[in-house]
Amino acid sequence: MKFTCGIVEDLLPLYLEDMCSEETRAALEEHLRECPACGEKLARLKDGAAVSQAKKEERSLPIAGYAKKVKRHRIRVGITVTLICAMAACVLALLGLTVIDMRREANPHVFEVEDGVYNLASAALESTAEEIGQYTFYTNSTKIRVTVERDGEFHGTVMLWDTRYSDSFIQMSEVDEKADTCVFTAGSAARRYKITCDGLPGAKITVSDGREVSFWKSLAHVVKGLIGG
Ligand SMILES: [Zn+2]
Repeated sequence: MKFTCGIVEDLLPLYLEDMCSEETRAALEEHLRECPACGEKLARLKDGAAVSQAKKEERSLPIAGYAKKVKRHRIRVGITVTLICAMAACVLALLGLTVIDMRREANPHVFEVEDGVYNLASAALESTAEEIGQYTFYTNSTKIRVTVERDGEFHGTVMLWDTRYSDSFIQMSEVDEKADTCVFTAGSAARRYKITCDGLPGAKITVSDGREVSFWKSLAHVVKGLIGG
């Protein structure tokens, strides 16, 4: 059986892939021996196959590199996410401890206080300059803070009395519109106190135990506790 150049050209790819029958192969090889043109075509096809194989291998190299890069990237992302989570957990724990500390600062343990004695640990008391003298105070923070509010300029005095000594006050502070707050210190939970005002008609008087609960103070407290300060 004789093949024409056209048939040979069609069959060359199959021949290269070794997918021809014995009969076809024999006829094809017979034609190739006699026809340099088809031999050249076969050579070109072989070259092309070799080139595309090489290209395939070449391409697979960067793919392997890319896969490695992706893997490295994933590991890095994993570590970053873990670190962020750990940091978030630490911040949350710190916030929680700070809130607990703030609550403790805001609500200290209060010993039972007798009737008719205003407990400054429970809340600040608002009254007037005229009526503040009716109250007896208890503090367990060693402080008594008095704030005076009055329209316009004013100048007066705030006096702190120990109920054991009703003949003279134990501390006194001058107040005016620029310095409207005074803090009496060295108070004792064992004492009962009274407050009176002079020269402050119609003024609003707020008495508290002077505790200042703040987020930053409590945070500092917690951090100090954690690092064993
Ligand atoms: Zn030919």
